[in-house]
Amino acid sequence: METVLVEDVLHRFLLERAGVRGVIVRLGPAWREVAGRAEYPEPLRDLLGEALAASALLTGNIKFDGSLSIELKSAGALRLLFAECSDSGRLRGLARWNAALPDPLHLSELPEAIMAITIGQADRGQRYQGLIDLGHPDLAGALENYFLQSEQLPARLVLAADGQHAVGLMLQKLPGEGGHDAAEDEDAWTRIEHLTATLGREELLSTAPEDLLYRLYHEETVRLFEPRPLAFGCSCSRERVEAMLRTLGREEIEATLEAQHGLIEVTCEFCARTYSFDRVDAQHVLSGGVAASPTVQ
Ligand SMILES: [Zn+2]
Repeated sequence: METVLVEDVLHRFLLERAGVRGVIVRLGPAWREVAGRAEYPEPLRDLLGEALAASALLTGNIKFDGSLSIELKSAGALRLLFAECSDSGRLRGLARWNAALPDPLHLSELPEAIMAITIGQADRGQRYQGLIDLGHPDLAGALENYFLQSEQLPARLVLAADGQHAVGLMLQKLPGEGGHDAAEDEDAWTRIEHLTATLGREELLSTAPEDLLYRLYHEETVRLFEPRPLAFGCSCSRERVEAMLRTLGREEIEATLEAQHGLIEVTCEFCARTYSFDRVDAQHVLSGGVAASPTVQ
């Protein structure tokens, strides 16, 4: 029997017998939209895909308003990597680099690197931010370490991406409940870790979520919850671009208008949408007033 390969989807699941909860994410079109925005060198493209899948994975077991982002900055060839998933499953991401990137691209070897997870609504100041220790060469290892430190519970992550798909699998040991034997729980977690370790990159990339879970954990009573759809999408807006322009100040805006024949065009790097401002618009922006052009929602 062949299952239809479902793409751009997040599934939560439970391995009931083992006391483990999990999330699996499989991205197809949404990932290709992000990957196709720039000529990413392969190792960077794959890291961006892993980060995008991870941003969705991390939304699987939490309730939040706004978005969850993973952001990496470094002083080396990889300057910035950003991946974000909103509370409604809207994904976007990008990376900036400026020279030949090392291949393989090890997080632990990036100079002056900082990686953070941010959750919440930036506009309303309701944000949580956690720093990720970059002692691990790969993103999955760094995130496992983050979970162990922040939640005191072991987690296992497997991430993979190529030009077509970005996939992630996350398992978390549930805190032992009444009646459970601690040693038994420990055994179950070890068993799940062993089963998960047999999963190869190609298998993860090429297998539908339901098939993959069945193949790995069929002896563990998998309870699969309804899938959540994911999709590429951007939260940019004319208001946000106006706010950004305001921070540049009058002098720079006027200089730009002068240099560009009276028209400022700002193109969103995530979705390639362009916002245009003529001299009249720019005056309104600078005076903090309402834009002359109709605002697209
Ligand atoms: Zn945009």
